Amino acid sequence: MTDDNNLKSMLPEELEELMFSLGQPKYRALQFFRRIQGGALSWENFTDIPKLLRSELADKYTLGNPQIVRRQVSKDGTIKYLFELSDGNCVETVLMKYIHGTSVCVSTQVGCRMGCVFCASTLAGLARNLSPGEIIGQIISAQRDSGYKVSSIVLMGTGEPLDNMENVLKFIELVNHPEGMNIGQRHISLSSCGLCEKIEKLAEKKLQITLSISLHAPTDEIRNKLMPINKAYGVEKLLNTCRDYFEATGRRISYEYAMIKDVNDSEDCARTLARLLAGTSSHINLIPLNSIEESPLKPSKPETVRRFQEILGKAGLTATVRRKLGSDIDASCGQLRRKYQSDRGERNR
Ligand code: SAH
Repeated sequence: MTDDNNLKSMLPEELEELMFSLGQPKYRALQFFRRIQGGALSWENFTDIPKLLRSELADKYTLGNPQIVRRQVSKDGTIKYLFELSDGNCVETVLMKYIHGTSVCVSTQVGCRMGCVFCASTLAGLARNLSPGEIIGQIISAQRDSGYKVSSIVLMGTGEPLDNMENVLKFIELVNHPEGMNIGQRHISLSSCGLCEKIEKLAEKKLQITLSISLHAPTDEIRNKLMPINKAYGVEKLLNTCRDYFEATGRRISYEYAMIKDVNDSEDCARTLARLLAGTSSHINLIPLNSIEESPLKPSKPETVRRFQEILGKAGLTATVRRKLGSDIDASCGQLRRKYQSDRGERNR
């Protein structure tokens, strides 16, 4: 399933071509783009477009609005959605409210093939990539349902964004478009487990987005056990690639570090990490692990996290502890989808 007929995936210039092929004037393209990216729910909303053209388009194309199948609201206002796509696959999306705005965490793939041992999203492997329009659809539907205008986007839901790079780049171009959602690149974060060749390609684009790297361990010995990708690109190669990325883009890199009890949370680990990142322009995000049913790994104790943070701080690095939003609603990725599937008696989708 490639979702080729989703109008949300189309840039104005592609809509122009489509209009041309239907014998329509060029200006219609922008009319459609605004309406589609604005979240038009049905063809009835296109009142200024001739009826015949509407029905011609409706025959072949979709408006790409995913359906809400589950919705969980946390005490802190975080909303987690399970959306159903046109082929029946489901993806998770999280809307988070902050004082300075509303952020949405979107999925980029149905499932994931990276195999990180602590992550619920990868347990059943990868089903397929999401199209650019399917990634946008999550934001538009969450926005419409919640009534909140989204001001920033994190590509940190299910999936590895750089394993679906072409569609993710087009998604960024679409949401960045002034006639569309008009969300600035600096309000977009992309999180990756560290596909070095893809990071090199991304560097060439010189985007102003924030790149987050899921590091989670300071040595190959520990990282190999947690993240299979480390066997392809070890910690040293990854950090060198990140240094080059910073050189090329001037954008400070964010490192994610899930604190796992007795695995990567020793003072030694903190000191090794501090040595590795010394002198780089970086920000470290410490996240107490969210336990998942399928894994025996447990989060570090709060005092261990504080001590770890202190060591990094003393070494001159910026480290913050991620505030846990929505922990009462399984807001960490993959868990809601898995529960829904097991309720429906499904396994590998
Ligand atoms: N594939 C991308 C983005 C998706 S995961 C990546 O690896 O970065 C988003 C973040 O959540 C990553 O940092 C990931 O390592 C982290 N994560 C996954 N499962 C987690 C868990 N159980 N507890 C804490 N963080 C987790």
